[in-house]
Amino acid sequence: MSTLRLEIVTPERKVYEKDVNMVVARGVDGELGVLPNHIPLVTPLKVAPVKVKIGNSSETIAVHGGFMEVRKDKVVILADAAELGADIDVSRARLAKERAERRLAQKQAEINAVRAEMALQRAMARLEAVEKQ
Ligand code: ATP
Repeated sequence: MSTLRLEIVTPERKVYEKDVNMVVARGVDGELGVLPNHIPLVTPLKVAPVKVKIGNSSETIAVHGGFMEVRKDKVVILADAAELGADIDVSRARLAKERAERRLAQKQAEINAVRAEMALQRAMARLEAVEKQ
């Protein structure tokens, strides 16, 4: 089975680097399944889990936005933050989700709704990545 190299990089570190058979990511225009020899493209990503298939197994990485560059034999994802499913602290993500939901429910002027909505999306992507592991 042919492979492509997937790299997931944040400003802090290289989160992931492996030869994989397929990458499934949520681009802003919809879900994208990338196999080796895919046509080259660049797309912004949603805050969502990225699923990777290697042989009969799969891995899930929570990716917090950023961009995906697809080349014939390589996919590079640049994101503000990303975590492997196994590294996600579930109780921290649950607390972050509750905090964001509480802030959004308050609807007070001093609450930054955009910031709370983004925090909510990150927490939900982390929880979804853990569920899909
Ligand atoms: P919190 O409010 O819990 O800090 P956050 O969404 O504001 O969550 P970020 O600013 O996105 O956190 O991330 C800061 C750093 O902490 C990043 O390196 C990120 O990978 C890591 N991180 C955040 N939440 C978790 C989590 N639940 N499990 C593992 N790492 C996390």
